[in-house]
Amino acid sequence: MKKISIIIFILLVIAAIFYWQEKIIKGVEIIINNNLNSGINQSKNDIGIKTSEEISTAVPFAMSEGEISRGNANKKQIIFTFDCGSGINSTDKILEVAQKHNVKLAFFATGKFAEKYPETIKKIAAEGHEIFNHTYSHPHLTQITDEEIKNELEKTDKIISDLTDKTTKPYFRPPYGDRNQHVLDIAEEAGFHSVYWTTDALDWMMDKTAEQVRQRIYSSLKNGEIILMHVGDDITGNILDEVFNKVESEGYRVVGLTEGLR
Ligand SMILES: [Zn+2]
Repeated sequence: MKKISIIIFILLVIAAIFYWQEKIIKGVEIIINNNLNSGINQSKNDIGIKTSEEISTAVPFAMSEGEISRGNANKKQIIFTFDCGSGINSTDKILEVAQKHNVKLAFFATGKFAEKYPETIKKIAAEGHEIFNHTYSHPHLTQITDEEIKNELEKTDKIISDLTDKTTKPYFRPPYGDRNQHVLDIAEEAGFHSVYWTTDALDWMMDKTAEQVRQRIYSSLKNGEIILMHVGDDITGNILDEVFNKVESEGYRVVGLTEGLR
């Protein structure tokens, strides 16, 4: 009897070892894959395959306080945000669709974008949409000094407010989603609160089709969701009317950021 107990015990130990090994190997694979993926995105960006410089690697960063990543979950509404970093391909269509649906949207613009397309910035503001801060040169904020972080935000605020008579405070969106608690603290000191997203529509990715972008949005609809899209690609402007129709037919309101947080 004793012998059988010992044998069962040994078998259990062996099973446990196998189980944990499997888990560890899987964990390592996930880490390697994540690194590989962001590496691929990064190199695409560096050699400029994508017309948009917008590469959102969606760096995982467990944080609830100190950053907004979702709107008011008690209301049936979806927050649509558009990052402006390089091109303006979809801008006019986005504004047309917003007018047609009588909705106000949120834009996050870089200072460089505002310098290059001042009329676009003015138009977005004149049509009643919100423009927030996406830094000046779209750097990785975790890799620059505190002083540089503040400059990136303040310089952009000056450029945009000179064009629109409105500050970009109190919100900014970290380029590439690259931020840590220190970056958030420094930005906060400068008067800017980070806004992340619930769903990255991946409209900026070269290999994505309009259908894939639509499905990404449709499959994730929920109260208070913040959707990240871009003005620089060709997909967004072409699908937005249909996307808004679908969102509204499911009973959601399309809103900008300030309203979506209320
Ligand atoms: Zn960006």
